Formats: sequence, C-alpha cells, structure tokens
Amino acid sequence: MIYKIAVGGIHIESSTFTPYISGDKDFMIRRGQEIIDSHPYMEKFKDKVEIIPLVHARALPGGVVSEDFYDKWETEFLDKLSKAKSEGLDGVLFDIHGAMSVQNKMDAEGELAVKIRQIVGDEVIISTTMDLHGNISDDLFSSSNLLTCYRTAPHVDQLITRERAFNNMIDILEGRFMEVYKAKVDIPILLPGEKTSTEVEPGKSLYNMLDDICEEESIIDAAIWMGFPWADQPRCHGSVVVTGSDEKVVNEKIEILSKAFWDYKDSFEFIGPTDNMKNSIEEAIKSSKKPFFISDTGDNPGAGGAGDMVIILRELLRYQESGMLNKKILVASIKDHESIELIYDTNDKSVELKLGGKIDPTFGGPVNIIVNVENYFEDIMAGRCALVSYGNIWIIITENRYQYGSKEAFVKAGIKKFSDFDIIVVKMGYLEPDLSKASKGWVMALTPGAVNQDLVNMKFNHRIKPLFPFEKDFEPNLDVMIEKTF
Ligand SMILES: [Zn+2]
Repeated sequence: MIYKIAVGGIHIESSTFTPYISGDKDFMIRRGQEIIDSHPYMEKFKDKVEIIPLVHARALPGGVVSEDFYDKWETEFLDKLSKAKSEGLDGVLFDIHGAMSVQNKMDAEGELAVKIRQIVGDEVIISTTMDLHGNISDDLFSSSNLLTCYRTAPHVDQLITRERAFNNMIDILEGRFMEVYKAKVDIPILLPGEKTSTEVEPGKSLYNMLDDICEEESIIDAAIWMGFPWADQPRCHGSVVVTGSDEKVVNEKIEILSKAFWDYKDSFEFIGPTDNMKNSIEEAIKSSKKPFFISDTGDNPGAGGAGDMVIILRELLRYQESGMLNKKILVASIKDHESIELIYDTNDKSVELKLGGKIDPTFGGPVNIIVNVENYFEDIMAGRCALVSYGNIWIIITENRYQYGSKEAFVKAGIKKFSDFDIIVVKMGYLEPDLSKASKGWVMALTPGAVNQDLVNMKFNHRIKPLFPFEKDFEPNLDVMIEKTF
C-alpha cells in the first residue's frame, strides 16, 4: 500500500509588540522537490509513501505577518491541499512554528488547522510538528490527530522532531494501534526562552521526563510547549500533550507531566547574568575580560525584535563624547536599509547617517553620526552590509534584519578575531555557541523593545488570567482535555 502524504506549512515567530510587519521579503518559500529535500528522512519511506509537497514558507522571527502575504500563501496552500485530497490522501504533515501572528487574527495556526480539517475530512491523519515556543489553542489541538514539538532549546532536534511526527503518522496508518487518544493540559505559565533552556535546570529535568514517559509501550508521543511570550493573545502559555493507545495511561502520564511543569515554575531563572542597560555597559567598560559580550535582549531578531534599535549605541556614544570610553567596541548589528543605500550610493569614506531606530521610533529614533566606512560586504540573508567606525565604536550595518550569531558571519564582515574588540554588543538573548566559546565576560542587558525580557511590565490586553508570573498566588486549573483521535 502506498500512503499519500501532503507536506507543507508556515514557520515564523511574530512579536505583536513591534510595528514591523513581516511580508514577502521576509519569507523564503519552498515548493515541490525543495520541500521533499528539506525532509531527508522521508527517503527511507520511498517504497510505501508518496510525498505530495504543498508549499512551505519560513522567515526569521519578526513582526505580525501582513494579511496580503498571508492570504496569498494560504490560498496556494489550501488549493494544493484540495487538489491532493481530490486525488486521494492519507495524511498531512503540518509543519509549523506555532507562534505566527497575522493581522486581524488571534489564532492564525488554529484557524488554518480548522480549514485543513474541513478540506481533508475526518479520515485523513493530520500530524502537526512545531517549535516548543509555539502555542496550542483548542482549535489547533482538536483539528490535529498528532501534535509534537522540539525537545531541546537551543533547538538541535528540528529534523528529529519532524521525523518523529512523520513516523508516528505512518505507524497509525499501518494500523499499529487499535485506537489512539490524545490529551492536552494548558499550563498557566508564560516565560521567555532565556529562562527555559533545556540545557540547564529546571528545563533539563522537565524535558528529560519525556523520554521516561515515551518508554511506556502504549505511549506514542509526549511533548511540552513553553509558548511564545511576545504575542498578546490568549493562546500564549505553556501546554503539554500526550498521545497513546491506552486512555488510562495517557491520562496518568499527562497528569504527572503537567504537575511537574507547574511545580517547577519558581525555579526558572535567567540562564546567564542579567542587569539593566546602564549597569551592563558600566560592567563591560570596567571589566578586564576581553572580549566582553553584551546581549541587547529586548531587540533580539531571533525572537522577533526589530534589529534596528540603537538604545545601547546611543548610550555608548554618550560615554565616548564624555571621554570615558577607552575601549574598542563592536556593535553587531543595526538593520538600516536607508543608511546602506546612502553608504553604497555616495561611495565616500565618510558618510553622515541617521542610523537605526526607524522601525519603532518610540524608543528614541535614529542616532545622527558621521562614520568612516571600513568595509563593504554582502550576505545572502543580511543583504548589502557595511562595517563602519566612529572613534572607538565600530558598527556593522545590514540592509535586512539579521543576527550575528556565528563566527563565520563576523569573519565575512571583516572581523578577524573577536578579541580585536574589548566589548561586543550583539542582538540576542543567550549567546550562540561560537560567541559563547569566545566570550570571556557576558551580561544580558534587559533592554526595552519588541522582545523585552521584563514581561510582567509589558502591557497585555488579551492574555489569560491568572497566568504565572503576572499573577503569583493561585491554584492552577490543570484539567485534562482528552479525545479519541483514531
Ligand atoms: Zn523556538
């Protein structure tokens, strides 16, 4: 028997706290063979599975997705799915991040999952594979037969997760289970990723529980979602899902898992040293450790920040003007399309810029500086770029939103050694591996922005209540929602 499986989806994390609108230029679209190639494990199934690629869109985390872009994408996705269904379909691998916001939608992936179910009917299996920073609404849960997500943060198991979602679907199609139950518990906890890494406690122990649970023979899958904290929507909070062939065991396991998640809530701490911006800069300037990294956490494009904020740069310029800056500093990076145009158009060594601060001017707008251009370079993702200097302060400027997370990216910019600089300011939360290896000192500066780490002081209008840590003293409702799904 050849099973016909449709594959497609959309992958973006959208902060609703930035005015930046994600659209055409932010997404990389895959169709046809490109989709199949991005799931190499499917090759093993070529004798029993026919893959029907739909369309897949993927973007760097950003702002809310424009209705225009989304409607175009959704029409293509659903048209291709309808065609596949009319030609016979057994399953859908619904490949999403789970924290997409679309203009005028409160639950983009949930609404989409309902539409998918309407098209394919009840006989087709929908297996949903996600990022653990995604959110599970009741609609998404009820429309999917299987749901799973990554078990590591930083994520090193993306492909393994998709493969597991795919294998579990094939197992069900092949009749390995007489019946299948799926259960969900919503956990009223919402925490930033900088507190919930699976490499340190308590994230490590919590996620390790999944292996034990899955050792039980009747359990098909177990998964924990941390949820996405920078979207003002009721669906944003933790969730756990357990799937298995024995209703009693599924119930038992999910109760253990959800209680453990809740009981760990007070132990989630920032995974590195944090401080406010002023103290962070002062600490870096005083430190003899070189290079000393400062994470500009509120403007982390890896979570949805604009990537063009100049709050730290403005403060550093103030230090330089007061003559208190005797260190060489690199700011990596500031997204600014207009400044790049100017640098490339004038082709002068010295250029006057109104740099950054354009996407969300509420944080002070651009800084005015006359810089020296040290290096011009290009990058597939970052676009046209320039390395510029202003006294002791060096700045990488990029045309597109980008995150300087790898050694290779710095080398491309013309930075030979991290240790050429005393202080390196990066737009991220926890340091990516290359940077972490190079760093001799580090602080996460709790800066404002679209992905402000100080969640409880941000203005939410639509979140659920009560929700930890916004509210602290309450008894959680950990009721199990369980459904026979096959
Ligand atoms: Zn994630």
